[in-house]
Amino acid sequence: DKVLVSGANGYIAMWAVYLFLERGYSVRGTVRSEDKAKFMKDYFNSIGLGDKLETFIVEDIVKEGAFDEAVKGVDAIAHMASPFHANVKDPEEFLRPAVQGTVGILKSAVKNGDKVKRVVITSSCASIMSPPDKPTKFSELDWNTLSPKQVEEQGSNTPPMTIYRASKTLAEKGAWEYHEKHKNEVQWDLAVINPPFVSTLPRNFENPCWADKPFDDSTKEALSDSNSWVDVRDTALGHVLALEKSEAGGERIITTEGGYIWQEWLAAANSISPSPISSHKLPVGHPEILDGTRVINISYDKSKEQRILGIKFHTKLETTKDTLEDFARRAISK
Ligand code: NDP
Repeated sequence: DKVLVSGANGYIAMWAVYLFLERGYSVRGTVRSEDKAKFMKDYFNSIGLGDKLETFIVEDIVKEGAFDEAVKGVDAIAHMASPFHANVKDPEEFLRPAVQGTVGILKSAVKNGDKVKRVVITSSCASIMSPPDKPTKFSELDWNTLSPKQVEEQGSNTPPMTIYRASKTLAEKGAWEYHEKHKNEVQWDLAVINPPFVSTLPRNFENPCWADKPFDDSTKEALSDSNSWVDVRDTALGHVLALEKSEAGGERIITTEGGYIWQEWLAAANSISPSPISSHKLPVGHPEILDGTRVINISYDKSKEQRILGIKFHTKLETTKDTLEDFARRAISK
């Protein structure tokens, strides 16, 4: 079977492409330039998985019919391309590619995706929650209706993270609405993966790791801050399983290991002996934070994911160990 992966050179997508190839699928990966296509080809050739990888240039996902050619002949689609950076000013800079890119790939699947059986879209927990003022457990029934409103009200004064959240919400909403309207014309259904913060182990060697944070910012307040997380490998696996499991059709599915407070990452890093990065002194932070009750402000119901996908998530310790070992390997190879 052949899977079309959009934004294939991205942080999560590189892992998804890796898993698809490793499991014997053929992959057609869309990227924005020849350079990125070459980067992908070189990388997957270097690990012996390049044979079944085909790259396809889609320069501008906003353009009408951008994916018309790319969807031809594929059995499934994983739409992963979406913009994020911290300097966004004009909300349209995110909203347009997020929404039109998502609806656009579905339009192309209606038009030319004769063989497509399922489309999986990378949404986000950003489409589920807006930051709560008290500890809250969210589920797939929740929608972040606040961020799109804030963007409407605040225009170019909207903070970048809010613009991003709105873009993910509107893109996912757009996808469900579009599929609902066209479901009688197509033989494919839709599944959506909603990850929270994704850590770490970059396979594209470019994306800065959010797990660097405890190494830079060690105030007690910062290290008590909480959220939910998922290992990038499990996020990628979620997409593979969402294409393989028939019960995933028609579902949005939160994929998370669970909650964390930042001090827990430092505790995990300091508990690994011998340290994979022994030349660096790891900060200890404020271990006393972990003596109290752990308060996770944003947590998620995992029951649908466990029932349908059943991922055995990497733990904080496993992810930390693998990440530090990866840092060490790269430091040595530089
Ligand atoms: P990356 O930035 O590493 O990858 C994003 C991909 O989308 C890249 O291929 C990028 O292309 C492409 N892209 C970005 N903007 C555009 C655009 N305007 N037009 C066309 N392509 C574009 O991000 P991640 O791997 O982290 O994210 C992948 C998906 O996962 C996204 O949908 C994101 O919203 C979602 N997600 C990520 C989370 C995280 O913590 N990382 C959490 C939850 C969801 P290029 O390389 O050319 O810029």
